[in-house]
Amino acid sequence: MSKFFTNKYSSLTPYTPGEQPRDKKYIKLNTNEAPFPPSPKAIAAASEAAARLQLYPDPTYKALHEALADYHGLTADEILLTNGSDEILNFAFMAFCDEKHPAIFPNITYGFYSVFATLNHVPYTEMPLRPDLSINIEDYKAANGTVFIANPNAPTGLMLTPAEIEEILQSNPCRVVVIDEAYIDFGGKSVAPLVRKYDNLLVTRTFSKSRSMAGARLGYGIGSAALIRDLNTIKYSTNPYNVNSMSAAAGLGVMADEAYTQQNCSTIIKTREYTKTELKRLGFEMTDSMGNFLFVRHPRVSGKKIYTALKERGILVRHFDRPTIAAYNRITVGSDAEMKALIDTLADIVGKSE
Ligand SMILES: *Cc1c(COP(=O)(O)O)cnc(C)c1O
Repeated sequence: MSKFFTNKYSSLTPYTPGEQPRDKKYIKLNTNEAPFPPSPKAIAAASEAAARLQLYPDPTYKALHEALADYHGLTADEILLTNGSDEILNFAFMAFCDEKHPAIFPNITYGFYSVFATLNHVPYTEMPLRPDLSINIEDYKAANGTVFIANPNAPTGLMLTPAEIEEILQSNPCRVVVIDEAYIDFGGKSVAPLVRKYDNLLVTRTFSKSRSMAGARLGYGIGSAALIRDLNTIKYSTNPYNVNSMSAAAGLGVMADEAYTQQNCSTIIKTREYTKTELKRLGFEMTDSMGNFLFVRHPRVSGKKIYTALKERGILVRHFDRPTIAAYNRITVGSDAEMKALIDTLADIVGKSE
């Protein structure tokens, strides 16, 4: 830390992204990226937009807001496009939390929530998961704070039903409830249609996972027009051109190719279920993940050991050091060939540890 760094941020522990090694070629199953390239329509649109990079983007991103509104059966003023869904989450902490309005989220969830809380000087409470790693909705009823829940949750992949989320919404009419649907396209049921029923609901989405566009940094929020106006106040006070023109164009391209996205999602779901069966055969235990990842442990081999042994053999997965989940690894569902390599390698690792 330099002597110039403000005290305001000196205690901040930044988010640790998954490894993005460039030294050697890994089978990369550690950051929940898609194994498929972006839609050809997204690639073409981005390269056309590249030829106009001398111009600022349209700060209202009208065309893409309208495409997303169509997709959700809403209007453009109920949506706000951001630089990845990380940005809409940060905006939500800025807009709806402060010293008097703390945040509340599970103790095992997306690691960025606590970082954004600290960044914005928002006190927060972490509610423990049940022993089976599920969320107990009672913990979030009449909560003294803004609720942040990833649904499916990360890294467990477990889901709440829309009815359970409605219970949380109804018991917190004076606080915003943020539902992070980064992984909703892999078989989950979205609560986005509820934004007209609940003025305290903000749903966040990303193009990073199901739409194969993690590198584009594209996400958005869905909420009542009033909530979206508040978030726009934050956006226009920080970065009016928060999404670059190539990414916005790519987003429009992929939204015009919904069949491609649907096809990829159903492939991932099939591969996920196949991999669950094969890993159970090897003695692994796991949550019933509804994401594009599995959360697995082995009764005899430690999580760290499995992580290290896989890495030595060229397969990268995500291990979290937090004591309650240290036995686990989070493994992205990749292509069928990648999963076959994973299963063979894990068979070897647990076989040698007999
Ligand atoms: C990947 C992820 C995000 C962030 O996605 P970006 O749009 O790439 O910023 C948000 N929430 C959860 C739970 C995620 O796993």
